[in-house]
Amino acid sequence: MAKVLILGGGFGGVVAAERLAEQLSDEHQLTLVSRSRKFVFYPALVRLAFGKCQLEDVSFDLRESMLTRRVNFIEAEVARIDPFERRVVIAHGEVEGKLPYDFLIFALGRRLATERITGFYENAHHLLSVDKALKFGKAIAQFHEGHAVIGQCPDARLPVPVYETAFALSRLLKERGEREHVRITVVSPDALGSQFGGSDATAALQTALDAHGIEFLPDFPIHKVTPSAAVTSDGQAVDFNLLMLLPPFHGSPVVLHLGISDNEYVNVDWTMRVMGVERMYAVGDCVNFSGPKMGHMAVRQAEVAAINLAAEIDGHPPLSHYSHEMRLVIDEGGSDSIYLHKDIWTDETLSVRQGRFWKWAKHAQEKYWEAAHS
Ligand SMILES: Cc1cc2nc3c(=O)[nH]c(=O)nc-3n(C[C@H](O)[C@H](O)[C@H](O)COP(=O)(O)OP(=O)(O)OC[C@H]3O[C@@H](n4cnc5c(N)ncnc54)[C@H](O)[C@@H]3O)c2cc1C
Repeated sequence: MAKVLILGGGFGGVVAAERLAEQLSDEHQLTLVSRSRKFVFYPALVRLAFGKCQLEDVSFDLRESMLTRRVNFIEAEVARIDPFERRVVIAHGEVEGKLPYDFLIFALGRRLATERITGFYENAHHLLSVDKALKFGKAIAQFHEGHAVIGQCPDARLPVPVYETAFALSRLLKERGEREHVRITVVSPDALGSQFGGSDATAALQTALDAHGIEFLPDFPIHKVTPSAAVTSDGQAVDFNLLMLLPPFHGSPVVLHLGISDNEYVNVDWTMRVMGVERMYAVGDCVNFSGPKMGHMAVRQAEVAAINLAAEIDGHPPLSHYSHEMRLVIDEGGSDSIYLHKDIWTDETLSVRQGRFWKWAKHAQEKYWEAAHS
């Protein structure tokens, strides 16, 4: 009998737990630990901020969904792990002290390093959690004129919601008859489309931005935020009346000082095994792979890790290999919605599609996820 601990109740942890429950016989014990019993479907948070869906549409109860799959659920905060003694140290929650394991899947996501941007906490909105998305939604409701600045800080690694927010704001202001009273600027530390790796992405984004009259300010690495301006380290400033910024991302602090991470992102090989320790896998935003941090990557990595962990329990070598693909939709709200696909490791040419279909596909994907996992 093996004790398998899965840390993190996001896309990576949930899919890893589900796949392991399918592949391992009942004699093995599966436990998922996460700080909240709510699963949140993050890609819907832009729509939540703009009042296009309700909280109950974007979240479900993890304890119930895990129990139906014979996975124990523990609501608790993980303080640190000891991969050499094979123990997880719990800070507080439904259990206390140390949880021993035989095998571990680490899926604690990334940390928002807001402290790296002076004044971020006091002066900027973001929408990377339910509370912050709802708070930003209230600010949008009270915003009728001036300059809206939407963007990301260096190392934010999640461009999709930046563009989706700018497009949604433009549409909302049009509906309210206020579009001409508001200037919208998207700011980025890079050139347009460079995070998606291809000139076709740049062209598709430019088409959509132009259709909405949205300005794009490239090469603008934000260093601090004052009550009225976002400022770079060389003193360039852009004034705002409404600011939504994605802060820098770091990996999980739980692995700090263990020698298994760079910049707190966990080093894994392409079987999703953590390098330098035994019986430990890592999946999702927490791993040290290049490119954007996306939910579909976490899902695929979790599937690979579950197959290989089940094989390891049976004494077999890894059976599945991960290939690092970017596959995403930027929902523009209409016919300029963009689908992008690229194999990041093989440097394959970026494939780009644009049209209303992709907005519908993204919403259908959300419904499918909820039906399949809740
Ligand atoms: C607004 C927004 C829009 C997005 N749009 C898209 C999109 O269009 N397409 C796409 O593919 N991806 C999108 N993403 C990215 C996607 O949501 C993430 O890549 C995905 O959530 C990563 O999954 P994960 O399981 O690795 O991490 P997470 O989803 O972050 O899950 C980590 C889990 O670990 C828990 N946790 C963390 N630390 C601890 C601790 N110390 N103790 C206990 N529990 C802990 C957290 O509570 C959470 O449950 C979007 C994200 C956001 C925020």
